[in-house]
Amino acid sequence: MRIDILTLFPDMCEAVLSESIIGRARKADKVEIKCTNIRDFSGNKHNKVDDMPYGGGMGMIMSADPIYNCYKSLYNEGEDKPHLIFMSPKGKTLTQKRVVELSKLDRIVILCGHYEGVDERVVEEIVDEEISIGDYVLTGGELPALALADAVCRMLPGVLSDDLCFEEESHFGGLLEHPQYTRPAVWHEKEVPSVLLSGNHAEIAKWKRKQALLITRDRRREMFDKIKLDKFDKKLLDDN
Ligand code: SAM
Repeated sequence: MRIDILTLFPDMCEAVLSESIIGRARKADKVEIKCTNIRDFSGNKHNKVDDMPYGGGMGMIMSADPIYNCYKSLYNEGEDKPHLIFMSPKGKTLTQKRVVELSKLDRIVILCGHYEGVDERVVEEIVDEEISIGDYVLTGGELPALALADAVCRMLPGVLSDDLCFEEESHFGGLLEHPQYTRPAVWHEKEVPSVLLSGNHAEIAKWKRKQALLITRDRRREMFDKIKLDKFDKKLLDDN
């Protein structure tokens, strides 16, 4: 998969995407990520990419042309237009389901807004989808774009050591994950649940499922209500 990030702060994105699991995945060619500076497409000698809002108001608005030309530089005439996602607090809130769907595309482009936002006409003309990472406002789209790119990358084959790494995780199957523990077995007089030390894989699986059901029921009732409980789940919850 190829991911392009269109931003005024490519170094900020590169710094994050060169580290840890995503950095290694890039080096191993599991994913290609390129950060392009929108300012390189300003088209004026002062490299200006923003202007005052029509109608008045606070702050500056990112101009249409640099964004349009930056996006157009990513593909040739006659080629398929890559799916363009604009990170925006007005977009649909990102979910794990959408992350999985996006990870199946060959290519995505992510546009980061800044200042007070982006001229709406360029959004109308080239953006396919607006995505928010939550009901709060950040200073720019870089952190949201990095969150999206990270979440998509870890769904790609070979990025994590095993698919099991994410299949049991929170949100993947509609549940929150069971609690996790590592050594030592006793820490600050708190013991790891004994079943996890038993070596009995069937019992461990039952414990994990039960904990995931309970934690989801307690913390995210609306998620829990969507789960189709089978007779084993009902028994696990009854035994509580
Ligand atoms: N004036 C805009 C509004 O009220 O909707 C907010 C602009 S915000 C200060 C600047 C940029 O940060 C946005 O264009 C967007 O790219 C990004 N951004 C801020 N919060 C975000 C969020 N929750 N999800 C995704 N992107 C966000």
